[in-house]
Amino acid sequence: MNKIICIDPGHGGSDPGALAGGIQEKDITLSISQYQSQRFSDLGWKVVMTREKDEDSPLADAAQKVTTSGASICLSNHINAFETKDANGFEVIRSIKSDNKFSNFVFNNVLLTGLVKGRNVYTRESKEYPGKDYYFIIRETSPVQTIIIEYGFITNDHDRGVLTNKNNQITLSEAVIRAVCNYTGQQYTSPQVQPQDPDAWKKAEIDELAAAGIVNDPNYWKERINDNMPVWAAMSLINRVRKEKK
Ligand SMILES: [Zn+2]
Repeated sequence: MNKIICIDPGHGGSDPGALAGGIQEKDITLSISQYQSQRFSDLGWKVVMTREKDEDSPLADAAQKVTTSGASICLSNHINAFETKDANGFEVIRSIKSDNKFSNFVFNNVLLTGLVKGRNVYTRESKEYPGKDYYFIIRETSPVQTIIIEYGFITNDHDRGVLTNKNNQITLSEAVIRAVCNYTGQQYTSPQVQPQDPDAWKKAEIDELAAAGIVNDPNYWKERINDNMPVWAAMSLINRVRKEKK
């Protein structure tokens, strides 16, 4: 399978999607999708997004972008809603023509995060078009394997709390990215964490002295930041401070 993926951030622009607690579905789906897009790019994938920002994204246009993308799989990111608050958990919807392999990879990986309950993996056939899928973005993007991921319910207090937290969005996204890599046989590596410079605070002290005009060549001293100071130099420094104080 090729390393091209399509990402469809559900809704956008004048269509906010589901609403609850002052939160709009379109904002969460965009945030998740942008993160996934960056990460897939970092992993060497070509990524095609059906929308890049908060803009209208009519289903027909989105579907056309998917079918012309060259991708073999597409993630359509959504947040669920229900009329009562108790409905919760995430769902994966796959094509009636697909086997459940890809959707199960995604479902099981998201389940491992422990952030949202696993609710369902399912297919839905159209009554209007028998033998075809009910959901437009799945039906009209065949043969691309499009799955709809409903990350949770915006109408459920717990799920909404999880989904509006940036770190949780990253954890859920990583679970999906890992699932895609496993399913397609591509390598998955965790996101790079920037190593902290253990000497940063020491260097900041030198910068402060340089700014005060006490140290002339801060870079010279930064290169020797962990060198020992001779006793005479320490004494001389203390003595100088002592005289300055008088
Ligand atoms: Zn939606």
